[in-house]
Amino acid sequence: QYVKRGEAAGIGEVGRPHWEVNANVVGLCNEVVEYAMTVAKDLNAVVHLHLEREGEATVRSIVELANRAGVRDKWRIILHHASPSMVKPAVDNGLTPSIPVGRRGEFEEAVKLTKALVVESDYADDPRRPGAVIPPWRILSRVNNLLRLNLISEEDVAKMMIDGIERLYGVRYG
Ligand SMILES: [Zn+2]
Repeated sequence: QYVKRGEAAGIGEVGRPHWEVNANVVGLCNEVVEYAMTVAKDLNAVVHLHLEREGEATVRSIVELANRAGVRDKWRIILHHASPSMVKPAVDNGLTPSIPVGRRGEFEEAVKLTKALVVESDYADDPRRPGAVIPPWRILSRVNNLLRLNLISEEDVAKMMIDGIERLYGVRYG
């Protein structure tokens, strides 16, 4: 309803717990994910998934659910908090990985694999782990760092942070 009214750009986040749970819980979560994918598909909206970070196995199971839901534009499925090991399988299958830039080394590793990704910040909810996640206003300093290291170009940044976002969310910058 929110997407139809233009008050939301997509559905999220839904997904699976990234800690040990019994199989019934996983099965139930998969049903919710598949339903979210079906609704998002019908609305041409994005769907954000929060999943365990089990590399190719995680991506494969999402591709299966997407196929069951009949999703053709898989780039509208965003794998939030993706690990570097999920990046290549995600891109190979047409999904969009979203990289938490606060995690040491992961942003660097991810951009070496693809520029077709989304970057994300997070809310620091655990005072015992300072720096584990970064707020939105610190993304820029991480991006500047990659530019200094020559791991990305300004064109890459524009592609990732403007063109990619416009396409994903159906918005216009400026
Ligand atoms: Zn999440």
